[in-house]
Amino acid sequence: SQAKISVLDHGFLYGDHVFEGIRVYNGRIFELDVHIDRLYESAKYLRIQIPLSEEELKKAVIETVRRNNLRDAYIRLIVTRGVGDLTLDPDSCPKPSIVIIVRPMEPLYGGKCARAIIASTRRIPSTTLDPKVKSGNYLHNILAKIEAKLAGVDEALMLNQRGFIAEGTGDNIFIVKDGKLITPPPSADILLGITRKVVMEIAKGLGIPVEERDITVAELYNADEAFLTGTAAEVAPLVEVDGRRIGDGKPGPITEKILREFRRLTRETGTQVYG
Ligand code: PMP
Repeated sequence: SQAKISVLDHGFLYGDHVFEGIRVYNGRIFELDVHIDRLYESAKYLRIQIPLSEEELKKAVIETVRRNNLRDAYIRLIVTRGVGDLTLDPDSCPKPSIVIIVRPMEPLYGGKCARAIIASTRRIPSTTLDPKVKSGNYLHNILAKIEAKLAGVDEALMLNQRGFIAEGTGDNIFIVKDGKLITPPPSADILLGITRKVVMEIAKGLGIPVEERDITVAELYNADEAFLTGTAAEVAPLVEVDGRRIGDGKPGPITEKILREFRRLTRETGTQVYG
């Protein structure tokens, strides 16, 4: 309640920061190492030198969860360019700021089925700002989220500049067609979601074929099933897009199978917080 950040921090002034959202389930931090790796990759691309080693930062995250005394929580880990002058020049910021927030959390979409629209706001192309970098620049996603809210639905799906389905404003997308799982490839201008990767591994383990390829709007409308994946969304069945029912408008059998295994993994794996 007393944490403060300077108004001269470039994270605040320019969105000049990188971050991770991480979940704690059942006293274990899910995929902590992978999140920390992605944070350091994002920081490297932006030339933000994180003033702690990966091990030190992991320890700080674990300790913050412990001090908050929560067994189920959401962690927001932020590293900004730091406090500087009123100039874009990153050299005016001698030391990055690190913020770790731990809060109780309900899954996005309340653990229920999600309804979405396709937003007119498109993804920023990788030639401008690589979406694989989890940076503080979320204005295009926020504009898409506003479209979703005005349409009275939960989420907005964004197309890339080529007009293919990219992802949601804070989650990746999968469709199921003829028993096969299909998700946009890394070249579709998406964030390489950690939940996306976990779900692809679950599918392989269950013998469900996975294809990474471009998905058209028509393919999404005509999918047998669809779902969203993300640290906040978990695995959320997507049952309606642009007012059209996906499949029979209920979570499909493959979605249910994956969700069951995802729940097991989140409860049984991860870095233990309490001894
Ligand atoms: N895409 C975007 C734009 C996101 O912000 C997120 C949430 N971090 C995701 C996808 C899902 O990624 P993850 O599974 O790593 O949370």
